[in-house]
Amino acid sequence: MKSVPDYFGCMVFDDKAMRSRLPKETYKAMKKTIQDGKRLDIAVANVVANAMKDWAVENGATHYTHWFQPMTGITAEKHDSFISPCSDGSIIMEFSGKELVKGESDASSFPSGGIRTTFEARGYTAWDPTSYAFIKEGVLCIPTVFCSYGGQALDMKTPLLRSMEAIGKQAKRILTLFGQTDITSVKTTVGAEQEYFLVDADLYNKRKDLIFTGRTLFGTKPPKSQELDDHYFGSIKSRVAAYMKDLDEELWKLGILAKTEHNEAAPAQHELAPVFSTTNMAIDHNQLTMEIMQKVAKKHNLICLLHEKPFAGVNGSGKHNNWSISTNKGTNLLEPGETPYDNAQFLLFLCAVIKAVDNYQDLLRASVASAGNDHRLGAGEAPPAIVSMFLGDELNAILESIENDTAYEANEKVQMKVGVHVLPRFPKDTTDRNRTSPFAFTGNKFEFRMLGSARSISSANIVLNTAVAESLKSYADRLENVENFEDSLHNLIKKTIKDHKRIIFNGNGYDDEWVKEAEKRGLYNLPTTPDAIPCLIAEKNVKLFEEHKVFSREELEARHEIYLESYCKTINIEALTVIEMVNRDILPAISSYAGKLCKTASMKSGFNADASYEKSVIEKLSKLSASVFEKVNALEEELAKIKSVSGVVAEAEIFKSVIIPAMEDIRSDVDEAEKITAADFWPYPSYGELLFGVN
Ligand code: ADP
Ligand code: MG
Repeated sequence: MKSVPDYFGCMVFDDKAMRSRLPKETYKAMKKTIQDGKRLDIAVANVVANAMKDWAVENGATHYTHWFQPMTGITAEKHDSFISPCSDGSIIMEFSGKELVKGESDASSFPSGGIRTTFEARGYTAWDPTSYAFIKEGVLCIPTVFCSYGGQALDMKTPLLRSMEAIGKQAKRILTLFGQTDITSVKTTVGAEQEYFLVDADLYNKRKDLIFTGRTLFGTKPPKSQELDDHYFGSIKSRVAAYMKDLDEELWKLGILAKTEHNEAAPAQHELAPVFSTTNMAIDHNQLTMEIMQKVAKKHNLICLLHEKPFAGVNGSGKHNNWSISTNKGTNLLEPGETPYDNAQFLLFLCAVIKAVDNYQDLLRASVASAGNDHRLGAGEAPPAIVSMFLGDELNAILESIENDTAYEANEKVQMKVGVHVLPRFPKDTTDRNRTSPFAFTGNKFEFRMLGSARSISSANIVLNTAVAESLKSYADRLENVENFEDSLHNLIKKTIKDHKRIIFNGNGYDDEWVKEAEKRGLYNLPTTPDAIPCLIAEKNVKLFEEHKVFSREELEARHEIYLESYCKTINIEALTVIEMVNRDILPAISSYAGKLCKTASMKSGFNADASYEKSVIEKLSKLSASVFEKVNALEEELAKIKSVSGVVAEAEIFKSVIIPAMEDIRSDVDEAEKITAADFWPYPSYGELLFGVN
């Protein structure tokens, strides 16, 4: 068997493959395109396409696809084969620069939020050469962006690349002020830790709720869950270990730097963390990771659940988005420096993030909003729906000393002057202890922890990049052409701390007290998706995105519509599944079990035996099933009424305030019934079986 370094990235047309297969000039042109975002010449594209095709065919590919990320949150592909007929009836394998660079796609089957109707139904895909092509299951996948013919973004990647450009541009202005004029590009970096559940496929196949909605809609808590904390980082069971080994191999072939695999807090829950990379690559890789996780699971007769809350009462799954900014020389701009001057630069970038998170809390919250994630945020297991930042005691003390012109204790009581004093060293590990904070500084990067496990991490990074670009822009506007750079810098940092310190919270984010405190501070608390999504079209936010050319107003309105629509559709499917399960499986099961008890009870009475157990259960089950029956009929009526509601905002509101509570109410009756119904009669595998069924 080949060693890992030998096969790592073997399915990627990466730098190594390009260097060995492209003529020198073409390779150089390609490199330039990748590094500086220069446009690719069609002559160059032709040469690249041909070399790419030869490489792909040698590696078993017969088809190619423009792989893109529509607003469904997952990836899409349409396969075309390389074959091209010759006049003598034979075929050759062909792939042109034009086919590489641009593709046409029928946009009408993807969500467009109204953009499509006002323009053409066609959309086009365009190669993003900064992300490498790769082979997946015999298909050469070319990472692309997806736009309408009018140029409006129909995907997650176009705005992401625009946001990376925006922050790169503003960061370069700031670096120039610090004398760093030789930096050619600044990009953000991301490492996304992915959580997931593994359940046995045979059990999964018996649960309509998992099949249709990705989460359980019913189920009583098992006698043992996660209270012993014995699963977290516990030893990995052999079937899971075999899965993880397989998964790593598949990811490594695709050049994905899967690094850490461990058990998570809940039983059957696990996590995979990659080594970080440039944001657009990290996002491609996270999308691929989710896809491969599910495919590899099937080979092991397992199902990988990516839903944010597959099991009520058990921890849900999220994604930690580790984020930083880096120059083309590899300098991490959020790494505290060694000299006063480096420190000043670090503090300015740090302040840019503080200001961004405070000014655009609402957008950050909206960027992680989904029906699934609503079950986690604020439920005492994930960060609350309130955005706040954790900086750690040391950094906090430094900022306080700057703000108040007071001495910083740990550093021999000097008064901190930006650009003059060396920052005291703060140990990295003490900064990473607050697990309850939604947005934590972890030594040389920020960790945004509100993201859900099922969705693309694009939205969150688009907001982060753009919001920080705006802070940097305001700083650069302010500092360019000032007479005394150091004084102005000091004052600017001081002012940022004063203006935005309300967003900094180092306490326990899971505490109810924090909700009250946050309200006093004037922070947003947007508990659900319908509360959060309208922020996308708030005037200040439209202005932000237009200013940095990341979204037009029209594109934002489209996304507002799409996300709310997706929320409504998700809950509608859940409600229909509840009705189907109750009417066709659950009520019949309860009834037949009660019927059996009735028989036993009447037989017992023939013997004058005590039938109090049977009678008591019959009575309880009858009450519960009557109640469930009535509630399900009411739910059906409510769903029917929604059809006449106009406007997605009003619709989402009803799903949130009427349908979800109705489903929960039904669930609580059904779960009560499950507790007293013989296991043989219950139509679905229990939580206990699902959570502890993989060994
Ligand atoms: P831990 O949190 O276990 O101490 P690390 O801090 O090393 O581990 O990393 C957690 C995640 O953050 C990993 O995915 C890692 O690749 C990522 N990460 C580390 N440095 C950066 C960075 N500069 N930019 C983005 N992500 C980073
Ligand atoms: Mg983490």
